[in-house]
Amino acid sequence: DNGLSEADPEVRGIIEREKERQFKSLELIASENFAYRAVMEAVGSCLTNKYSEGLPGKRYYGGNEHIDELETLCQKRALDAFHLDGKKWGVNVQPLSGSPANFEVYTAVLKPHDRLMGLDLSHGGHLSHGFMTPKRRVSGTSIYFESMSYRLNESTGLVDYDKLEEMADRFKPKLIIAGASAYPRDFDYPRMRKIADAVGAFLMMDMAHISGLVAASVLANPFDYCDIVTTTTHKSLRGPRGGMIFFKKDTVLGVDLESAINNAVFPGLQGGPHNHTIGGLAVCLKYAQSPEFKAYQNKVVSNCRALASRLTELGYKLVSGGSDNHLVLVDLRPLGIDGARVEKILDMASITLNKNSVPGDKSAVVPGGIRIGSPAMTTRGFTEKEFIAVADYIHEGVQITIDAKRTVSGSKLQDFMRFVASPEFSQKDRVSD
Ligand code: PLP
Repeated sequence: DNGLSEADPEVRGIIEREKERQFKSLELIASENFAYRAVMEAVGSCLTNKYSEGLPGKRYYGGNEHIDELETLCQKRALDAFHLDGKKWGVNVQPLSGSPANFEVYTAVLKPHDRLMGLDLSHGGHLSHGFMTPKRRVSGTSIYFESMSYRLNESTGLVDYDKLEEMADRFKPKLIIAGASAYPRDFDYPRMRKIADAVGAFLMMDMAHISGLVAASVLANPFDYCDIVTTTTHKSLRGPRGGMIFFKKDTVLGVDLESAINNAVFPGLQGGPHNHTIGGLAVCLKYAQSPEFKAYQNKVVSNCRALASRLTELGYKLVSGGSDNHLVLVDLRPLGIDGARVEKILDMASITLNKNSVPGDKSAVVPGGIRIGSPAMTTRGFTEKEFIAVADYIHEGVQITIDAKRTVSGSKLQDFMRFVASPEFSQKDRVSD
């Protein structure tokens, strides 16, 4: 059997070019990271060849003795990484990604057209927490269930818990979802628990963005208050693309969460687990218990704070006024420009971030802000000093966007990009394929 270069030079070439792009650019997309090299090795292994429908010890195919050992190890490491007692909590490590994990939870605990509440997409929530326009139900969550979104208080930029309480009291959801894709602060779990209990709803946290920070105890622990916790595995956690569902080993509101969730994953919505992903996840969850991982997650937060304070010094308006986690959300509207243009200009200078709607935006098509995350460049060795420089280069990009006459060429920003591509730049976690 030939290697990739020989078998398919075209795909090999695309991979090489993508590797070069990842290596040479400043990766500031808050949901992205560089997976550990050992994780990539497991993902690219023979584990991809095996079918293993079912759970360890209860498979529909033979030859699963090693896969059983792997999945059991992965489950144990998942519980250990999040400091959970295996008598009280269980985990399913088979979800193919974050959105399927969430839909599997809804399938497990809701009936079709039951009601749920998640954070509004335009206020930082995720599509899989429900999204519909006045004309169309967009997310499957809103097609198969009845969703109503709660929002931020537009003056503070924080979740409006009073309003959520009021809305929940009227809407009577069966499920309330905490968690977000673009929220720079932590969630008030005790408050959300109270709101859920008052209306008899399950409380679920989707910690996709912040699971690395939660594992390192840098942010509040959602497990103390929630019935179910979902996550992706490829963001702050630095694992392979995948998902996990943690559940209380208990009957909650008449539902045995363990069997309902396991059955929703398989046979409900999935077939064979992606064993190569589970292999990579097990590796990542071993790292997640190390002192180095904790130190890394602390740096993710301190780097983000340094970025936020430099942007504030430069006069930018940040949603909620700053950040407690791995991302900042910059409101560009006071400058008379939009996030889409700034994203484009910065992309030309190999600074990769994303346009993002900010509370009060009139249109989701032309969002008024940008989202900037610290996990990926922290992985590549950036310290607060470099993140202060990053704020300055973003500022330069914004100025260029405002003053269309200035060009990118010859700017300090380009010198910096040359530095990022040079041998002096941290080599320790180089992008590997
Ligand atoms: N949940 C949250 C909060 C997210 O931010 C994301 C993705 O960014 C997801 C779920 C979905 O994950 P995936 O893209 O793996 O389906």
